[in-house]
Amino acid sequence: MSAHLTQEQDQWEDGVRVLWAPWRMRYIEAEKPSGCIFCPATDETALRSALILEVTPHSHVMLNKYPYNNGHLLIAPRRHTAVLADLPEGEFIDLMALLRRAVAVLETALHPQGINVGLNLGTCAGAGVTDHLHWHVVPRWTGDTNFMPVVSAVRVLPQHLLESYDRLRPYFTPSPDPVGKGSTQR
Ligand SMILES: [Zn+2]
Repeated sequence: MSAHLTQEQDQWEDGVRVLWAPWRMRYIEAEKPSGCIFCPATDETALRSALILEVTPHSHVMLNKYPYNNGHLLIAPRRHTAVLADLPEGEFIDLMALLRRAVAVLETALHPQGINVGLNLGTCAGAGVTDHLHWHVVPRWTGDTNFMPVVSAVRVLPQHLLESYDRLRPYFTPSPDPVGKGSTQR
């Protein structure tokens, strides 16, 4: 791990490669979990550790563990499919409603200057997980590609993610459930 940190530190300091999120090397190099990350357990006790912010009847929204930016959300249907046309009308509407709400939450909670919303279908289109549909919602600030690597040190990123989780979670749950041990809980 220390070798990774040293390597990543070097990437920040050369002033060029920081233009992409260097902490994503951990995702690229990490062993991928055997199960589908978009078919997680959705019981209340598992939500915070899985960074799941809300579960609806047919969809869920989670923070990306390997974000391109602070507040990078992933919205997926609960049905395990890579084919958009496989989603019945009701499930698609549920998913789009959650996507719309996720954008609104980011605007309210983080006040980004812009937001990227994207769906990558297939490896050559950039999908990291190819067999389960998921939308990326990435808040953007002017100059963030330079700014974020400086303020989001690799070593503090896991805590940073939970802080982001605790900050966003109340917006997704009008009556927050007692999950996790975050500061927002009673
Ligand atoms: Zn899946």
